[in-house]
Amino acid sequence: MKYFTTLFFIFFILTLHGQQLLTPPNANKKEVKLINNVIKDYLDDDKALIIFNPYAPLFIGFYGVTYQYDKNICLFSLSAVLSDRDKRNWVLLHEMGHVLDIMYGDLSEYPPMWKGKRMDHNLEWQERPWEQHADEWAERLWKKYLDGDPPIRDIQNELNFPNDCIFHKFGSITFKGE
Ligand SMILES: [Zn+2]
Repeated sequence: MKYFTTLFFIFFILTLHGQQLLTPPNANKKEVKLINNVIKDYLDDDKALIIFNPYAPLFIGFYGVTYQYDKNICLFSLSAVLSDRDKRNWVLLHEMGHVLDIMYGDLSEYPPMWKGKRMDHNLEWQERPWEQHADEWAERLWKKYLDGDPPIRDIQNELNFPNDCIFHKFGSITFKGE
């Protein structure tokens, strides 16, 4: 009987928390809590999987990167050099904006599409609608979960030529004869 009770309990927990977040042991607890809040309030997909990579050695010009593995599986990274609390929260919420847009079906990395149209990477970063939308998400989520003003201007001044968070030029390598 105890065995069945335990099984039922595990089943109950799994169905209650369908969406999954994977984080490494050294992830910051407040950041994990913030991501879990966004997932709980904005994602209703029991097959969704989000993997958080909090301290990635990213190229200069990148504070965060999102990778799409499947329509409801994403990995996102924050730069290891990003150590300011507010800036980290802002970039985290911006990347979560990309994740939500991917999972809602508005954004796709392969092929690179935004709302049914091929992404135009000739646009300046500030004019790319998928980046504008991720910033809108970040602003909305900041107001809901965090206090004070978000450090948008500071980040824009630091990253004079910010790189696209998804489908960037380091996306793939083609080897001769393969
Ligand atoms: Zn972005």
